Amino acid sequence: MQRVAMLAVHSSPLATLGGKEAGGMNVYVRELARELGQRGIAVDIFTRAQRRSEPQIVELGPNARVVTLRTGPAAPYDKNSVLDYLPEFVKRIRCFADGQDLSYDLIHSHYWLSGVAALELRKMWGVPVVHMFHTLGAMKNQIATTPVWGESEERVAIEGRLLREADAIIAATPLDRAQMQFHYGVESERVVVIPCGVDTDTFHRYDRADARRRLGLPADPTKIVLFVGRIEPLKGLDTLIRSMALMADRGEVRRSELKLLVVGGDAHAREDQWGGEERRLRSLVHELGVDDVVQFIGSRTQDQLPLLYSAADVVAVPSHYESFGLVALEAQACGTPVVASRVGGLTFTVQDGVAGFLAPWDDAHAFAGKIEQLVLHEGLREEMGANAIANAQQYAWPRIADRVLGLYQAIEHLRKPAHAIVPLHIPRCAL
Ligand code: UDP
Repeated sequence: MQRVAMLAVHSSPLATLGGKEAGGMNVYVRELARELGQRGIAVDIFTRAQRRSEPQIVELGPNARVVTLRTGPAAPYDKNSVLDYLPEFVKRIRCFADGQDLSYDLIHSHYWLSGVAALELRKMWGVPVVHMFHTLGAMKNQIATTPVWGESEERVAIEGRLLREADAIIAATPLDRAQMQFHYGVESERVVVIPCGVDTDTFHRYDRADARRRLGLPADPTKIVLFVGRIEPLKGLDTLIRSMALMADRGEVRRSELKLLVVGGDAHAREDQWGGEERRLRSLVHELGVDDVVQFIGSRTQDQLPLLYSAADVVAVPSHYESFGLVALEAQACGTPVVASRVGGLTFTVQDGVAGFLAPWDDAHAFAGKIEQLVLHEGLREEMGANAIANAQQYAWPRIADRVLGLYQAIEHLRKPAHAIVPLHIPRCAL
């Protein structure tokens, strides 16, 4: 195994995290590429340009780079429209590879859109395809309470096709694997469970009081609950806001000493630039009269997060669906217990009663109770924080990357006869 083509067409690993479309998948792609690069495997991550002036190649570290190719307009556009431009994306990847005289030993695609491109490239290159869904359209549809959140039938059909045709699929948990089999009716032995990783060098514990001082946050006895993530309905932030309102009313923790910090979105956006979900959440905060408790502080870079995680008493992950849930792991790596919904990957990464608590999803009362339990009992919080660090170590990136590499090596031989050279129809192979 010498060179891997990684496809992340709809969202670049260089994108600002915490926006609408950049989160766990972007972090996963970036970190895996870096880890593989350090092992001497060259990784090119292909993505579409979202701005005119984007450099075509950005190095992420030894042997790992992001290759940004014009695919449709060089502007952010709805990710569902990416499907229409995939033929162009595929051609430009071929053009790039031919122009640089590169051949790839394997394709690793991320999200259903890139999966389509991967199957097309396999026709020309004949190399095996490993695919990761990150989220499943059928699961999102099951959870969606309004059709607006729903995913297209086309997406679900393509996901089924990928399950049947990819050489290997990586599921993040045994539940993720079972959901693939249940919803798509595919009994695929090619679905292999490998959890996501966490960068334990970046995500480590800082002294809580010191972290708060450095961030200008209120010291003890203020209780800080932290949310980190994209501001979108599936993240269940409304449940958390309701649970903060319940806690503020109950007064077990003094209202003036209760804070929810929301990291994600854009704190500098003007009101007319807020997305629908942010608008909905901000009016909920207002309606519930917790403007003094809830603070939207905008997105943060990964380097800024360890201090925030360390400063918090609890990190809350109230998602309705989470195929894995990196935030829960990052928080634990920083020694902060997590209160999370009992859904998806969170049921594996958060050990209930050991490194935090699980609560029924969409249940503000349950969340409030679990959060109170942790913030009111210093000893319990400390003990669970220590357990959390130990738990997160199991997911340290070097271990996870070894497993991914093991899978690559196991399927490396699955080459398929490639089509005869198919002519490219891009004038002068312009990139
Ligand atoms: N993230 C970040 N800054 C932000 C918000 C989120 O760096 O302001 C990162 C976060 O650290 C995590 C990822 O985005 O690595 C979110 O991943 P998760 O799996 O929790 O959710 P997803 O985005 O995949 O739904």
